[in-house]
Amino acid sequence: MTRPEPALSVVVPMFNEESVLPLLAERLRGVLDGLGEAYEVVAVDDGSTDGTVAGLTALRAGWPELRVLRLRRNSGHQAALVAGLFRARGGYVVSIDADLQDPPEVIVEMLRRARADELDIVYGVRADRSRDSAFKRWTAAGYYRLMRRLVGQQVPAQAGDFRLLSRVAVEALRELPERNPVLRLVVPWLGFPSGEVGYERQERAAGRTKYPLSRMAGLAAESVTSFSAAPLRVATWLGLAGVAVCGVLVVVAVLAWFAGATVSGWPSLYVAILFLGAVQLLCLGLLGEYVARIYTAVQGRPAYFVAGDSAAAEPAAPGRD
Ligand code: UDP
Ligand code: MG
Repeated sequence: MTRPEPALSVVVPMFNEESVLPLLAERLRGVLDGLGEAYEVVAVDDGSTDGTVAGLTALRAGWPELRVLRLRRNSGHQAALVAGLFRARGGYVVSIDADLQDPPEVIVEMLRRARADELDIVYGVRADRSRDSAFKRWTAAGYYRLMRRLVGQQVPAQAGDFRLLSRVAVEALRELPERNPVLRLVVPWLGFPSGEVGYERQERAAGRTKYPLSRMAGLAAESVTSFSAAPLRVATWLGLAGVAVCGVLVVVAVLAWFAGATVSGWPSLYVAILFLGAVQLLCLGLLGEYVARIYTAVQGRPAYFVAGDSAAAEPAAPGRD
């Protein structure tokens, strides 16, 4: 690469964010130009079907620091983030949502903290989520409580994907064999010195959320199964408990038979069958979660395809580099 390495890369995943583009460019540019250091903004177009790409191309004409990475199809927020992160060139890499829910002004403070305290990771922590819907707050609180249980206390609560990583941390991430890591869990798990910067989560500047409930549930399921075999153990314990209960029921049934009260036994049978059926279904479901993960891992398909990178002479190879 002949171009000098920028001090900072800002990765912005975008899926149909045409309506926030002008505002985003203005705010981001204001902050980054004010830094007085070389930077690049890596806008990752996650297969948008609106005017996002056209808007980005237009912006690039007057903003040489803007780099546009296009994914061939919609691959999801996480995959888009990873695509941008792995291709960013900066000494520090900040990831930020396109919708201005994370104020770009906080980037300056993140960078300052990272340098002053020699940190490899600085999390943007939502100090105030009162602008998010009650449902979102409630599900997020549950999610973080669960993740801290699974991954350990190093997962900061209320830290989303607004964070700064040093070059060393990015390279450590790239060395993981996982193709599509759940970043908000894998990053703390890396164990680098880290800090937090609090900020107020804003309302979406324009457009609407691209994270419906089904995607939130998907992220939660993937988070759990990518980090812990504990649910498998829950299944085992449930199975054992079911067997124990059945053992008791068998003894009860035999005693009832000796006592000549067999006809009254059918409700207990009914309950036992239902109970066993439920436990078996639950265990099958849990096994399925892991089998699905093994399946996708064995397939080894890239989580995304890069269709073009405005900073590269020719289209890059598919998947991670
Ligand atoms: N996003 C993406 N691909 C997707 C869905 C979302 O790149 O398939 C981007 C989106 O453009 C935004 C960020 O991920 O920059 C967060 O999405 P959103 O603001 O819709 O989620 P929310 O803040 O409602 O959780
Ligand atoms: Mg948002």
